[in-house]
Amino acid sequence: MNNWLLLDDYEDKRLPDSFSIVIDAHVHLFPDGVFQAIWRWFDQFAWPIRYKLTSPQIMEFLTSRGVDRILGLHYAHKPGIARQLNTYMAGLCRDHPKLTGTATVFPGEKNAVDILKEAFELGLAGVKLHAHVQYFAMDDPVMHEIYESCVNYSKPLIMHVGREPKNHGFPYQRDPYETCKADKLERVLKDYPSLKICVPHLGADEFDQYKRLLEGYDNLWVDTAMVLVDYVPGFKVPKLTELRSDRVMFGTDFPNIPYAWDTEIRQLGKLQLRDDFLEKILERNAIEFLSTSA
Ligand SMILES: [Zn+2]
Repeated sequence: MNNWLLLDDYEDKRLPDSFSIVIDAHVHLFPDGVFQAIWRWFDQFAWPIRYKLTSPQIMEFLTSRGVDRILGLHYAHKPGIARQLNTYMAGLCRDHPKLTGTATVFPGEKNAVDILKEAFELGLAGVKLHAHVQYFAMDDPVMHEIYESCVNYSKPLIMHVGREPKNHGFPYQRDPYETCKADKLERVLKDYPSLKICVPHLGADEFDQYKRLLEGYDNLWVDTAMVLVDYVPGFKVPKLTELRSDRVMFGTDFPNIPYAWDTEIRQLGKLQLRDDFLEKILERNAIEFLSTSA
């Protein structure tokens, strides 16, 4: 069982006024039934989720509190459901102008290239993959068609390929400490120089390796989700100011968090970052990541 705590910490009703434009580059959106399955999984194996909201409620919750733009992420945990999830995400984007939606596909599934093509034609702006949920290694042969599709359509790829949080609730066939090594990512960055990749959670927990990769490769971004908040024990998170300033994006993992929705951005405010650095993290880096020009 798990020892994660649900925090009942204070939440504000608005973003602090000191921030101008805020893009949350890591928000999860799923159809109701999938969310319910995810919540059951989290209740059993991971932290308790404080905001059990539907996707339209999530959009309303964040935008009414001052978040200007949301990058919506989802992932297919098995073959055969990506089309349905992508259609759902595209519908949400039509209803919510502040939402930029990404596509999903299960690596290796039949017609993966067609699934992505259709998703991009629906207007989805990138692809999200999660190595722990989808059991892939970055150097699996089936990954190349996904990387190539992103390159061909000039779409960025958000790929959870950090080793952590490793969770025994996943029926791992391979250890993420093997499949998710930073040097495997380096191979992809080298082989696909025009493929923009964002690794969430600052690459947890290989923070030093990701700091080095950011400096060496212009096609790598990271997001801050859940690593600035001092919730996951044992992470030796680097100082944000030590990371490449044009490659870090603010993201929260909302709604799948166990603490107040604004914890992370209030934490960011306490770091007393220079205004231009903050503006990059909160807005400009995400805009560049999502832009189609390289
Ligand atoms: Zn997430």
